[in-house]
Amino acid sequence: MTLPTFRFAPSPNGELHLGHAYSAMLNHAMAKANGGRMLLRIEDIDTTRCTSALEAGIYEDLRWLGMSWEEPVRRQSDHFADYEQALSRLIDEELVYPAFMSRGEIRAFIADSEGSGRDWPRDPDGVPLYPALDRTLGLKERGRRVADGAPFAWRLDVRAAMARIDPSLTWCEYSDENLVQMSLVDAQPQAWGDVIVARREIPTSYHLSVVVDDALQGVSHVVRGMDLYFATGIQRLLQDLLGLPQLRYFHHRLVPGPDGRKLSKSQKDTGLTALRKAGVTPLDVRRLVGLEVTGAPVPP
Ligand code: GLU
Repeated sequence: MTLPTFRFAPSPNGELHLGHAYSAMLNHAMAKANGGRMLLRIEDIDTTRCTSALEAGIYEDLRWLGMSWEEPVRRQSDHFADYEQALSRLIDEELVYPAFMSRGEIRAFIADSEGSGRDWPRDPDGVPLYPALDRTLGLKERGRRVADGAPFAWRLDVRAAMARIDPSLTWCEYSDENLVQMSLVDAQPQAWGDVIVARREIPTSYHLSVVVDDALQGVSHVVRGMDLYFATGIQRLLQDLLGLPQLRYFHHRLVPGPDGRKLSKSQKDTGLTALRKAGVTPLDVRRLVGLEVTGAPVPP
């Protein structure tokens, strides 16, 4: 029998804050309540912003909160070959294309188009969709630009991808952490346009490495913040294209900052390290994030 498997997957590009504490402790509690496994994954594909000191801080903060997880921890930067393999499959199947437009070119193109009175479509995060001018470049021209060393990113041809799968793509979303009620959500990956799947210098992206790792690690339940709710659509599409299993999701509420806004890694005062130094206890953290407090001491 395979056990329900949960994971907490932080990126060591900043210190953990109360929102991370909530997500981590919720996963831990759910794994325990369901007799399941708890994994920790370090999502450090961005090797310029992620540091080993921040990674060490994550372990320290999570242990302080009373969490435990299976060893060894999977660190994404140790597994680029796995993501490259998935990328090769997408390249071979002509589901991705090298996209050459720089940020400046994208901005200028969109400003130009909006200047002539046309609203440019935006993704669920409010970012303008990629104009995808180079989706139709001939093979020869693509090859020439790549050989010339032109910078590019691998983007998903979302139209081609949708034509390859059952277009009524859905994912399973639980209504709460009790994992009793579940509904099917329309994935709508087209809302993201031709997303970046890999970069030339990093052979992967957040979406690609998440789906590859969740499958490789046997994750069954993805419990993470509402901020990633719509991103699930693109991840479901990648799972289908790569023949990976479907998972079950629960996107939890976000913990607001003192000003009522979304917490960010740059707001140092809600960082777990700062709170710990200020004398806040793990039990206080549970209260602060609104997790049920049983009165029982937090395990050492
Ligand atoms: N690494 C992502 C983050 O820190 C979370 C990824 C996920 O849970 O799917 O926001």
